[in-house]
Amino acid sequence: MMEQKSGQKKPPEDEILPIKVRNLSVTYRTEPALWNIDLDFPEGKMIAIVGPNGAGKSTLIKAVMGLVPITAGKISVYDKSYSKQRSKVAYVPQRGSVDWDFPTDALDVVEMGLYGKLGWLRRPNSQTREKARKCLEKVGLADYADRQIGQLSGGQQQRVFVARALAQDPQIYLMDEPLNGVDAITEETILSILENLRKEGKTIVMVHHDLQTVDKYFDWVVMLNRNLVAGGPIKEVFTRKNLDRAYQEKQRLSIR
Ligand code: ADP
Ligand code: MG
Repeated sequence: MMEQKSGQKKPPEDEILPIKVRNLSVTYRTEPALWNIDLDFPEGKMIAIVGPNGAGKSTLIKAVMGLVPITAGKISVYDKSYSKQRSKVAYVPQRGSVDWDFPTDALDVVEMGLYGKLGWLRRPNSQTREKARKCLEKVGLADYADRQIGQLSGGQQQRVFVARALAQDPQIYLMDEPLNGVDAITEETILSILENLRKEGKTIVMVHHDLQTVDKYFDWVVMLNRNLVAGGPIKEVFTRKNLDRAYQEKQRLSIR
């Protein structure tokens, strides 16, 4: 096995993995948000993406789903392009990026997650409503199905989006800071759901802001700072040295 400079052991190139990122660069305007990233996301793991503000964490997740234009490189999802694998991936966006004034209730938000599976012309029906209801139940929000999403607490809104991802029944969960600003009960609820999903063999990729809990919750970590600082098992790569590299360099960059 070859050793990459990030410390990640490189699996054979023909191995099919949930997500492979090769030479990925993303530039929004003139400055690169991600530079030459190579990563292999293993199956059935809880994977944290960490790094300072502006490190490109959200950009990486969005790039996987084709939500931002890729300047260079390639991403595959189970060996194919994302567009062929949509149904295997669910996304929980960063909370600040969602328009909560949108007039829709919790059950609708969850059910909308199922539209992609139904195809354009199929309408939601009693079966999809039932499924959506069950998923709201799983996140402890059975009683809030009819509540406008704008009138839910931050933690409840986050749980609605987790329910929506669950309803899609994907292989891969891409979650952008789902634990940010939520109360302890919500954090516990979300983590125990994710733990069960991992036991079923699902792959969970989560942008995570709390460095204190990385080794407690996750198997794997990706440390970003526009460049890839490290990607691999927690024990191998979540080191003081890598943390310094991930967080200090950014500080230098942000002092203008
Ligand atoms: P993180 O999630 O790690 O905080 P982001 O991926 O959101 O970082 O952003 C990385 C960099 O790209 C930041 O400097 C941010 O300002 C910039 N950026 C993000 N999205 C856009 C966009 N849509 N247009 C222009 N610049 C963007
Ligand atoms: Mg972000």
